[in-house]
Amino acid sequence: MTKKQSLYQIVLEQVKTACEVLEVDEAVCELLKEPMRTLIVSFPVKMDDGSIRVFNGFRCQHNDVLGPTKGGIRFHPQVDMDEVKALAAWMTYKCSLLGLPYGGGKGGVEVDPRELSQAELERLARGYIRAIAPIIGDHKDIPAPDVNTNPQIIAWMVDEFAKIRGYNEPGVLTGKPINFGGSLGRTEATGYGTALAAKLAAEKIGLDLNGARVVVQGFGNVGSYAAKYLAEFGAKVIAASDISALVYNENGLNIEELMNYTASHDKLVKGFPGATKELEPEAWLDIECDILVPAALENQITEENAHKVTAKIISEGANGPTTPGADRILSEKGILVIPDILANAGGVTVSYFEWVQNLMNFYWSEEEVINRLNELMIKAFENVYKVYTEYENINMRTAAYMVAIKRLAEAMRVRGWC
Ligand code: GLU
Repeated sequence: MTKKQSLYQIVLEQVKTACEVLEVDEAVCELLKEPMRTLIVSFPVKMDDGSIRVFNGFRCQHNDVLGPTKGGIRFHPQVDMDEVKALAAWMTYKCSLLGLPYGGGKGGVEVDPRELSQAELERLARGYIRAIAPIIGDHKDIPAPDVNTNPQIIAWMVDEFAKIRGYNEPGVLTGKPINFGGSLGRTEATGYGTALAAKLAAEKIGLDLNGARVVVQGFGNVGSYAAKYLAEFGAKVIAASDISALVYNENGLNIEELMNYTASHDKLVKGFPGATKELEPEAWLDIECDILVPAALENQITEENAHKVTAKIISEGANGPTTPGADRILSEKGILVIPDILANAGGVTVSYFEWVQNLMNFYWSEEEVINRLNELMIKAFENVYKVYTEYENINMRTAAYMVAIKRLAEAMRVRGWC
């Protein structure tokens, strides 16, 4: 992916719009402008052939007024500090919006994990945690999975941190495997939340979910579960794309079969026998649909292609998939965009539940997790929708930032920060 616009500039633009409508204290905006702490690390990893490769990694803690910072770790060849700062800031607003006792953080390593063997990947994960260990902890900064990181990688990281601490501190990272302090429901949570957000939006605009046509961009953890739950809610997922291809079936793809297929085909959709048509990945915006779920990377819906969107609802499974220029076009077209900080907040919400369970050493049933997730997601959605309908000329994104910034501003005031 080529980066067209600084992601951090995009966040600043989004926040500025919300601060202006809210007429929030200037000091609050100033405090939110720059992250409170950033760390750049460089660390060696021994490769299988005996050579040493040095990797660059990042961790950003944007703001901790509401609690310890929280956010995933991304393994991607194009990760840089600008992206990590933006993603950390989005976590600040996401956690605030959902009412979680967390600030925002994010980390990343500049690596293409597909080039590494499992053993190299493990050494990379452990090396990165050793490098950022001084600034993380279960009451300091709590990382989690993000693009290209998964429960196994998180387990290696927790294990490495246990060696540094001298005891196991399971709450230092979330997204762990179930048999090692993970929470039931965490793997599915982000995609489930994205589907639930689309369902709530459909109810608001009177779109019947039964048979509604859905297109999903990205079929990783978020996209696949969003597709699965939207299909369970009655919608018809007609297309799913990833870097390999776009698979299409006008009668609806069988998501369970597609998930099984990708599990045994390098996690890619290409060649899925249940598709009636296979197109280039870029075709995802050319397919007419009612609900669009961008669940890949940032900067996907831009000023150049936003005119193509036919959907009535966009539920942002990815972080930052829509640029501000595209947002303006989508608003003009009357498309309801459920912003990332709401639509993909299910993941960090269940991460919070996982952390609570770790601290209590007492574990909940899946039903309890899902009930609590529903409660927080519905509450956040309603809070945002209320602001969206109360103010003129704002979109759901600005409304979401307004709810989030209000809570942050109140916490800053009582803590005497401004
Ligand atoms: N990486 C996810 C996100 O962007 C989850 C973060 C977490 O669980 O802490 O929201």
